[in-house]
Amino acid sequence: MRKPKLIISRCLNSEKCRYDGQGFEDKVIANLKEYIDIETVCPEVSIGLSTPRDPIRIEKHGEEYKLIQRNSEFDCTTHMNEFAEEFLSEIKDIDGFILKSKSPSCGIKDVKIYPKGNKYSISKKGRGLFSEKIINGYSNVPIEDEGRLKNYNIRDEFLTKIFAINNLKCSENIFEYHNENYMLLKSYNEKATKDLDYIIKSNKLNKETISVYKNKVQEILNAKRQENNKIKVVKEIFDKYKNDLTINEVENYEKLLQSYKDKKIPYSALLVATKIYCIRFDDEVAINQTFFNPYPEKLINISDSGKGRDL
Ligand code: SF4
Repeated sequence: MRKPKLIISRCLNSEKCRYDGQGFEDKVIANLKEYIDIETVCPEVSIGLSTPRDPIRIEKHGEEYKLIQRNSEFDCTTHMNEFAEEFLSEIKDIDGFILKSKSPSCGIKDVKIYPKGNKYSISKKGRGLFSEKIINGYSNVPIEDEGRLKNYNIRDEFLTKIFAINNLKCSENIFEYHNENYMLLKSYNEKATKDLDYIIKSNKLNKETISVYKNKVQEILNAKRQENNKIKVVKEIFDKYKNDLTINEVENYEKLLQSYKDKKIPYSALLVATKIYCIRFDDEVAINQTFFNPYPEKLINISDSGKGRDL
């Protein structure tokens, strides 16, 4: 069975390629290794810089952003741009990226930018030069940094997407995929999922329509999942059982839903509560939805789930 394939900044994989000769042991990546295939890259080492090395930074020269070694003032911009383009042209069948936060090469946001030759950064923050090319070239796969992935909700969305796409790539039976992922896709985009339903039920499934279906799934998963869509789906599942429950049970579930809306409990708590009703009513179709288990259970670590929910 194919595993999701991710490209990761090499220093996050405990490899000592940082400017100071150090690396990081990132817990999220360490946990992921059992379930994904990893390819690592260190763009700075790949363009020929030594380890340890004179650190580089992004400087604004007029309208241009340059990658400059701080002490020697060596300009690495062309080397980095050429390497990034070559790297992009060589990678195939990638499901996502985890890049090092705030690095002038790998950072996907909040990278400090300095005026030419100045000691202090300017207020504007940007992306690393390598990650800029990756983001422009791979708009259809999730790209995150290890700092953002420490947040439960951001990590949950990232993992949900890469495993949903991997399931699609592995699936030999599009009907099965559609049935098992229906609620999950609906929690991203109800209307687009109904269009998928139409494709599946149209009796015109062939190579071409399957390819249209797959592209549409990719499009659905590329978008940001809205809170109200998630709430709508859990409510829809719960409402199936509502008439067979006591007023007390219904009221308690509604309170739970409100607590989630008020950001007092994490999404995982709402999912577990809803799944308990699916189990109680022996609703196998719902229980087997990837909506409840979008990725391997061992990857669920809710220790940080109380922190901010914003993506
Ligand atoms: S942040 Fe990127 S360029 Fe810097 S050491 Fe890590 S992998 Fe290499």
